[in-house]
Amino acid sequence: MQHFTQAEISYIEDRYQDFLKVLKGKFDEERLARIEKAFRFSNAAHDGIKRKSGEPFIIHPIAVAKIVAVDLGLGATSIVSALLHDVVEDTEYRLSDIENMFGERVARIVDGLTKLSGDYDSRHALTLKKMLMTLSDDVRVILIKIADRLHNMRTLDSMQPHKKIKIAAETLFLYVPLAHRLGLYAIKNELEDLSFKHKHPDEYNQILLMLHNQEEKRNYLVNEFIRPIVEKLKNEDFNCAVTHRLKTCYSIWRKMQKKSVTFNEVYDILAIRIVIKSVPEFSEKRQCFDVLSIVTDIYKPKPDRIRDWITTPKANGYESLHVTVMGPQGNWVEVQIRTDRMDDVAEHGFAAHYRYKDIRTFENELDPWIEQIRELLQSNDSDAFEFLDDFKLNLYSSEINVFTPKGDMISLPQGSTVIDLAYEIHTDLGNKCIGAKINLKLVPLSHVLQNGDQIEILTSENQVPKLEWLKFSNTAKARGKIKDAFKTEKAKHTEKGKQLVEDAFNRIKEPLSANNLKKLVAHYNMNNRDQLYSEVGVGFIDLGDIKEIIGKKSENKLVKYWNITFGGGNKAAEKEADHSKKIDQKKTFLLKETQDNTSFSLAKCCNPIPGDPVVGYLSNEEHVIIHKVDCPEVAKLLTNQGENIIRAEWTKFKRQSYLTRLNLEGFDRLGIVHEVTTVISKGLNINMRSVKFDTHDGIFKGDLFLYIHNAEDLKSLISRLKNIKGIENVSRVENLNE
Ligand code: MN
Repeated sequence: MQHFTQAEISYIEDRYQDFLKVLKGKFDEERLARIEKAFRFSNAAHDGIKRKSGEPFIIHPIAVAKIVAVDLGLGATSIVSALLHDVVEDTEYRLSDIENMFGERVARIVDGLTKLSGDYDSRHALTLKKMLMTLSDDVRVILIKIADRLHNMRTLDSMQPHKKIKIAAETLFLYVPLAHRLGLYAIKNELEDLSFKHKHPDEYNQILLMLHNQEEKRNYLVNEFIRPIVEKLKNEDFNCAVTHRLKTCYSIWRKMQKKSVTFNEVYDILAIRIVIKSVPEFSEKRQCFDVLSIVTDIYKPKPDRIRDWITTPKANGYESLHVTVMGPQGNWVEVQIRTDRMDDVAEHGFAAHYRYKDIRTFENELDPWIEQIRELLQSNDSDAFEFLDDFKLNLYSSEINVFTPKGDMISLPQGSTVIDLAYEIHTDLGNKCIGAKINLKLVPLSHVLQNGDQIEILTSENQVPKLEWLKFSNTAKARGKIKDAFKTEKAKHTEKGKQLVEDAFNRIKEPLSANNLKKLVAHYNMNNRDQLYSEVGVGFIDLGDIKEIIGKKSENKLVKYWNITFGGGNKAAEKEADHSKKIDQKKTFLLKETQDNTSFSLAKCCNPIPGDPVVGYLSNEEHVIIHKVDCPEVAKLLTNQGENIIRAEWTKFKRQSYLTRLNLEGFDRLGIVHEVTTVISKGLNINMRSVKFDTHDGIFKGDLFLYIHNAEDLKSLISRLKNIKGIENVSRVENLNE
């Protein structure tokens, strides 16, 4: 082994001394000695090992320990564990060595971290399941793991490009929601921005530049806005820090995508934050509301935009008062009001509770959530990926609070339905549920609950769980319970589905060959044959169009879903296709119009068109499914089967048209429909398949299905539609099926 050079050794020493500076004054001699011992041991263990960047490896554990100490505010045991977190994984030392030197607690944490590590390409659905199990043992393991990922993301530049994209996708998929759920807002934001930067470098730099360009103007506006507030707060003897914060690049970009608006149309880039140094004489809540009243004396609040997360904190512990007010320049500005303690919790999450409450309270607050996870893990032995899907639903969504007839409050993810609530209260209640009564009105199982609803669940002894409930159940708990009820049925369904598939092949007189089965599996975006059988058996897939899928001429899905006008070019392509069709995973897959069109198909979930940034999913060695880079399905595939994701690029596409869906919204006026259709029919290379207009109370809505050649044509059409007087909103809808 090559030892480090003198220069490298003193570099390491410098970085370590920097780290020690941040610990100053926070730890006693005994703790500092433990930290020192951990560093010396880890440093010796990692001697001579370097990171991809060429830096000595030990710089990484030092950096992770610093995040653990500063950003997470954790104690000496966590810092020691962070310094040692890669020792068992990467060196010859064993867990027993760690236990002998640093005790059982540290050894258990390091063990948890070692079990969670592994190559980025491995099956991460399993990793999440493992992570959640660990979480119910010791939450510190997850916190250190998040710190580890944060440092890896900060130093991602030295990785190879395709690895970067995978790691960034996994971060968005797993770590961001976890950080969010644990209330680590600052870290969540940074992870999001770093992932965005690596997934979409051009867009990231563009937004950064635009933020920079408007900085001067923005600072001027901020000062104008806060000046009267600061004055009044001073007069009333409040000790407050008034600052402003910007939306992250990622959330600006998300908003631009979601609402199809330009950078300049994102109006809530800025938020004002007032942090009160609270005084013990009055309750924190009262002080926040006093400040709120000062702000709304100066600026008019938007009527329904006061959010009170102090009376009812978010499940991750977040407390704050949000109000949107009309600023002096005629813009809505969000103002966040909170005390210094609330601010600390908001930035640092549950870890901050350590600083304000004794550990028992801290654990009490985390407990209901961990208990929920434990229950889920026990009740749900379906495959890990399915579990992950269900669980993530609940990580992402914001929450609503509903009430039982007795007035007990129950928190549920937004979008939850009656059946979700029934299972949330009790499994039996779910199994027997037939509907509910909300404010004296009867509603079905699928009814979506609103914040503040008071709900009485109605049951019947004759009711049994039904599979179609899965279509409108949204909580992991309800979905798990419904699936459990059908587990015994699963084998039957698979058997039945297999029979149905065989029958279908007989009917169209085609052999049940491996190749034909592959086509079916790929067509329905299934993971494997068994999944296909079981979905057919349950009745989620009917094989009505099997002939078209298998059929020779139309085995390309394009024919069915897109209006294709082929020129003479594709005969040559057919000949070309006689050669080996095997796809080279290492090369960028080029999408050609003349290419043998069985080699790729366009995903139905996101319906990419030429010009959209895309990636390919290798569904078998001769077939690629093309998805938009941002398709949620891709995030899933990347974490689950990252090795099958390949780069893909459009080449020139001229002849084919692609079905695309647009939604319009605006204020109705005479002649608007005519203007919309004129703009479309005047557009080059655009054909209408169907248009549907609807007006209601003066609001105009349009649902258009158009054949279009590429993303550029689409973009220019959207901007022309937006110029029509009365049209407020034009958005592309990825799902063509609703
Ligand atoms: Mn590490």
